[in-house]
Parts: sequence; structure tokens; C-alpha cells
Amino acid sequence: MAASTAPVSYPRLSLLDQQRLLGDIVTRCRTQAERALEGQARTPVVVFDLDGTLMDNRPRTAAIFREFAASLAAGDQERAARLATTAPDDLAYLVRDSLGQLGVTDEKLVQGAEAFWKERFFADEHMKHDIALAGAVSFARACHDAGAICVYLTGRDLPLMGIGSFRSLRDLGFPIGVPGTELVCKPVFSMPDEEFKRLEAPKLLRVGQIIASFDNEPGNCNVFLRHDPATVSVMLDTQHLPGAPPLDAGVHVIADFRHA
Ligand SMILES: [Mg+2]
Repeated sequence: MAASTAPVSYPRLSLLDQQRLLGDIVTRCRTQAERALEGQARTPVVVFDLDGTLMDNRPRTAAIFREFAASLAAGDQERAARLATTAPDDLAYLVRDSLGQLGVTDEKLVQGAEAFWKERFFADEHMKHDIALAGAVSFARACHDAGAICVYLTGRDLPLMGIGSFRSLRDLGFPIGVPGTELVCKPVFSMPDEEFKRLEAPKLLRVGQIIASFDNEPGNCNVFLRHDPATVSVMLDTQHLPGAPPLDAGVHVIADFRHA
């Protein structure tokens, strides 16, 4: 597991500039879709990461911690009581750091909690706890309504997390299961996310032209910008892996998807 490092602060756009940027992306999608219908352009594509981008998955971890608390033996009641009250804002990116913040530092207990969490976090069932970021559903819908293909490109793996991802997108109200939408998952759990996205980005050419891409990991944002500098690459400043590479200067940074 990566070591913790001090959080980096990114230059977020103001809400007004965020709204302008997102509005411009929808307009570009609409213009390009009209040209595509006339055979003068490729179909516009907008790429969305899921965890930490369209969705806040911290409630998933909080729910798993509460289940872990319920599984603890009677002798651990004090810690169980603290874990049982876990809220999303109590959580750091790494499970070990979150447990430390919640007062769980006993190595054996930490390892047990990590194993308990991993088995549940990376599986279909608990994704029902995820929530959409502010504005995310209506923005994805606006892109889709404007004629773009929404590609959900996620580091979740198809065998363990594909069904839960589809269900979660559907239940939260994102466009999915209709023409102009795709859910693309990692083939296997063990593949690093950045490698997966680096390999997948060129393949998206078969879908159309990427107008914009959204991700919460600086490395993935850089991948899309470097793949095609004409793509509007946007980073959601939510949470990301500690020790991430520096963000390229051309990537826009926003807090969420609130748009005009
Ligand atoms: Mg992510």
C-alpha cells in the first residue's frame, strides 16, 4: 500500500468558471453532434470516470466500516461504537489512514479491517451506497441529450464490479442501457488503473471523438490530455491516490458538476 503524503492543493476554477466550462462542453457536444449527423464530423464522446468523479464512494466505505464494527467481538465494544458512527467525512483516501483517524491502530485489527473492507469494497453488492456528485447526473444527461456518447471508463473490474456499476448508474439516474452510452471496465482487478486508461484511450477512437474527459486522478487526466491535446481534460478535486504525479498545466480543475 502506498505511503501517505501531504495533500496537494489544486487551482480549482471558481463556480462561475466551472459553470462556463461545463456549459461550453455541452455546447461543443451539440455542435459536433449536428455536424456528425451531416457526415462532417465524428460523433462527440464524453468520458467519465466513476469513483471520485461522477460518484462519491466514501459512503460505501462508511457502510463497510459499520458492518465491520458489528462483526467485532464483545471485548472491542469501544472501538466498535466509534466505527459504527463512521461518516463519509471521517474518511481518508487509504483505509489504514481512515482507521487511524477513527482510533483503530492495533495492527492485527487494522489488517482484519483492511481485509474485510477489500472483500466488500471491490464487489457489486456495496455499490448501492455510492452517491452522485452534485450536478453529475444532470450534466451527464445534458451531454447525452446534446448528442454525445457517454463512456463510463472505470478502474472497477468487470468480473467483480461490472454488474454493480451498471446497477448503480441506472439507480442514480445516469444515462445507461440506452443508445449513446457505454460502460467500460478493467478486464482484471490486478491491472493498475492508469495503465488501463492509457491502453483504453486510443481504443475510444472507434466510438468517436473525445470532446471532454473527467477523472479524479491527476495521472489519468494527463493521459487524456496527452493522447489528444484538443480534448478538454477535467480533474474533479475530490480524493485521489496519495503520491499522484503532478497535474499537467492544461487540465482544468473543478469541485463538482454544478452547471448552469
Ligand atoms: Mg476515480
